[in-house]
Amino acid sequence: MKKVDTLIVGDGFAAMFLSLELLAKGKTVALYSEQRKGASRVSAGMVNPVVLKKFTTFDNALPQIEKLRSVLSYLLELSGVDTIVEQPLHRIFHDAREKTLWLEKATQEPLSTFLSEEIIQLPGVLNPHGSGKVLHSFRVDVEAFFFAMEVVLGSRDMLFCEHFSYDELHADQSCYKDVYFTNLVFAQGHHGALNPFFPNLHIHPNKGHHLKVRLDSPVDLLVKKKHFLFPLSEGYHYYGGTYDRTERMEKIDEKAVGQLTEGLKEFYAQDFSVEEVGFGFRPTVRDRRPLLGASKEYPNFYVFNGLGARGLLNGAWYAQVLSDHLLTGKEIPLHARWERFDF
Ligand SMILES: Cc1cc2nc3c(=O)[nH]c(=O)nc-3n(C[C@H](O)[C@H](O)[C@H](O)COP(=O)(O)OP(=O)(O)OC[C@H]3O[C@@H](n4cnc5c(N)ncnc54)[C@H](O)[C@@H]3O)c2cc1C
Repeated sequence: MKKVDTLIVGDGFAAMFLSLELLAKGKTVALYSEQRKGASRVSAGMVNPVVLKKFTTFDNALPQIEKLRSVLSYLLELSGVDTIVEQPLHRIFHDAREKTLWLEKATQEPLSTFLSEEIIQLPGVLNPHGSGKVLHSFRVDVEAFFFAMEVVLGSRDMLFCEHFSYDELHADQSCYKDVYFTNLVFAQGHHGALNPFFPNLHIHPNKGHHLKVRLDSPVDLLVKKKHFLFPLSEGYHYYGGTYDRTERMEKIDEKAVGQLTEGLKEFYAQDFSVEEVGFGFRPTVRDRRPLLGASKEYPNFYVFNGLGARGLLNGAWYAQVLSDHLLTGKEIPLHARWERFDF
């Protein structure tokens, strides 16, 4: 028999940020990972405070970035693994109109905090209208992040590499198999849509593909035109990801692969080969806010979901919101409560 403060179901950014938050407060966790590649593990790892279609930003973007940086320093302290890649993001302009809009927004609040006024000509890529730098942006090395988390949780016997089955949960006794818990948090990404304790969870899967490519001449930059391109190790590059709200099949969609190869050709004039294709389902919500809070029937069962397309930017922030609620009873703001659509 084992006793933990919090049992966490899931192994993506939501589950990992919450476990770090709880560890920092001296609490114990048991985290269940079914070892499938969810959205977090295929993500680009971009920490980007700007919507790069319309050049708008989000509430609290800067404090969210600061929170994430402090959590990643804590992870470095615990694991010895540095997961931050200090490479700023550059947006390649499609046309002169976009460049003008960028320059306009760069001089006005709130975008002046995030858009550089300097227009740059990037080497190695086609950018006849120039490119703009997103200030405060950086990248998380996703593979290193999950490696570090496995080191931290594994060395504390807090990682259970198995599927969590609802059939083996004794809800009334707060016990799963032989593990007794004070709280249970479901952080299952798009799989949360089928969770019996949170019926009608407003999760809409949004499928995203990315490519692992080898470029004839490497590009040592983090750039975005339609999608993100940046170097990985061993001469590979990441290019992605697509968005598709309708496709639900657990297999590669050739249409998305075609979209990506065409997108890359738009600004990379040399040859490249596609070495690998990955995909995942973003857990998105209509109003682009997360879903947090307790079950109506079991008050010590919680959900942490709905991180959408920006699990890195908002995940660490909302992990703290949930952890404060679990540990001190601090209220979860209405905009983030999972039942808000029922009010
Ligand atoms: C192609 C692509 C690129 C992206 N790029 C970025 C980016 O650059 N920056 C950014 O911030 N966001 C990005 N995102 C979005 C980001 O990935 C999501 O916001 C984030 O992954 C959501 O995290 P999550 O933990 O809620 O879900 P997930 O990552 O899906 O994690 C949930 C996990 O729980 C596991 N699980 C579910 N049920 C069980 C069970 N019963 N037992 C055990 N395990 C279970 C699943 O296997 C899954 O691995 C991208 C997404 C995609 C698809």
